Amino acid sequence: MMTTPNGKSIENNRSATGKVDYEVLVVGSGFAGIGAGIKLNKIGIHNYVILEKAGDLGGAWRDNTYPGLHVDIPGLTYSFSFEQNPYWSSLYPPGSELKQYADHCAEKYDVRSHIQFNKAVTKSVYDEEHNLWTTYLDSGEAITSRYLVSASGFLSIVKMPDIPGIDEFKGKKLHTARWDHRHDLTGERVGLIGTGATAIQLVPAIVPKLKSLAVYQRTPIWLLPKPEVTISEGMQKAFKNIPFFQRLSRLTLSMFTDLIFIHGLIRYKRFERLLKWTERQCINHIRNQVNDPAIQEKLIPKYDFGCKRPSFTSKFYPVFNRENVELVTTPIARITEKGIVTTDGKEREIDTLICATGFQVFEKGALPTFRIYGKNGVELSDFWDVNRYSAFMGATVPNYPNFFMIFGPYSLSNASYFGMIENQTRHMARCLQAAQRKNANYIEVKKESHDKDFQNILRKAKKTIFAVGDCAASNSYYFDSHGDNPAIRPVTSVEAWVRSHLFSMNNYNFSAK
Ligand code: NAP
Repeated sequence: MMTTPNGKSIENNRSATGKVDYEVLVVGSGFAGIGAGIKLNKIGIHNYVILEKAGDLGGAWRDNTYPGLHVDIPGLTYSFSFEQNPYWSSLYPPGSELKQYADHCAEKYDVRSHIQFNKAVTKSVYDEEHNLWTTYLDSGEAITSRYLVSASGFLSIVKMPDIPGIDEFKGKKLHTARWDHRHDLTGERVGLIGTGATAIQLVPAIVPKLKSLAVYQRTPIWLLPKPEVTISEGMQKAFKNIPFFQRLSRLTLSMFTDLIFIHGLIRYKRFERLLKWTERQCINHIRNQVNDPAIQEKLIPKYDFGCKRPSFTSKFYPVFNRENVELVTTPIARITEKGIVTTDGKEREIDTLICATGFQVFEKGALPTFRIYGKNGVELSDFWDVNRYSAFMGATVPNYPNFFMIFGPYSLSNASYFGMIENQTRHMARCLQAAQRKNANYIEVKKESHDKDFQNILRKAKKTIFAVGDCAASNSYYFDSHGDNPAIRPVTSVEAWVRSHLFSMNNYNFSAK
């Protein structure tokens, strides 16, 4: 056994032989893992494996199949820049089209053949003696690689609500990311907990078949009207035949979504009036769609637009005009065998409990989803727990050599995750190519580069809505236990794109071991 500087002991799992099974081992086959595979193929590294815990690829778009699932960022931007899809059926395509797109990309770019399914990674340990990573699966199998890439996502560990009595409930219990399509909700009394981006899509899709629905809202979210625009065959042909037209549409939509989801938030003072105007549009949207003024008030958030992930819908609010739908804002006290009891003592009996309660995001150990022991034997989430989340350009951490993250702390600077995936895989590829040029097999970010980048982030973070705005009542998963928002890099998407191309390799130590 060895002991970390935190005083925690870990197993000494160093590989005995030093044999490298793969040059690169990627964990996760969602779009991040697929993007990493595409990049590795492109730079000529074919000796890699992608380990996937499930039996299929697609990450969040494999796991989420709940009724009403659509992407709330336009498909034209929510896709790889080098593989634009002219055939989205609508501006905001259904989840099934995203899953098909993931399959398409994995096939077309020869990534699927590198994926090993049903391989759940529990931990990776850096072996300093042999300069390799040993990755352990829940089966006990161990696989070695020179480089390790975490692409395990950040919306993958489902969060069930921590409510007393939840295990006692005798009816059907569902989490939105583990939808059971065999369960028929027709004629049922349903209690649904949560009003995030998922619930607002699910509720309108299921409500017509229910006997009654009680929506338990703890914190409302800001919701903009969503234009229901189908993309006609003629338009699809235009996108196919005139790629410039599609690129222009993508650029225009990206500018809009990046402004709403990122840029306006990181330059809060500059965009404050625009954000206040956006809030007014959202409030008008509620007043136009909900009849009862008391319900209108309950649906209006009491924090600044942007503190919490907003979304788009024109179908959620009208649901509260139905006789059989109730918006419950009294806090939940407990769950019983038969239903949900609120703190006013009222019990609502239900047949099915739906938990639209999201995911563990910055809860300790959720990012990445497996444990990573670096050069000094310290587990990465322990390191962050003490030192705050940080990573050089969202990708690398000192003492964790030959390790790259796709969604690392402060990596997201686009509304569409694909912008982040392309920047982060570019970062990885540039480092691997530099190592090849230098005949090196050891890459470690310099501590001074990492620290400088982090200080720069913290300085810029002071200007964001998360520091300057009124976020107290937002209960936002963007914030970690230190009060930081490590989800969003406080730079524009253009800046992040340029830096991912131009950052100096002098930020890294390279050597041959
Ligand atoms: P979420 O945003 O984390 O929302 C979870 C909801 O459950 C919140 O309303 C939360 O209330 C509530 N909740 C959690 N625990 C609770 C408890 N113990 N008691 C009462 N209420 C509780 O999760 P999500 O809606 O699944 O969305 C997660 C993310 O997925 C989104 O932010 C977005 O990034 C992504 N998403 C994307 C799309 C897309 O189309 N691209 C669609 C859906 C989701 P509080 O707010 O008070 O915590």
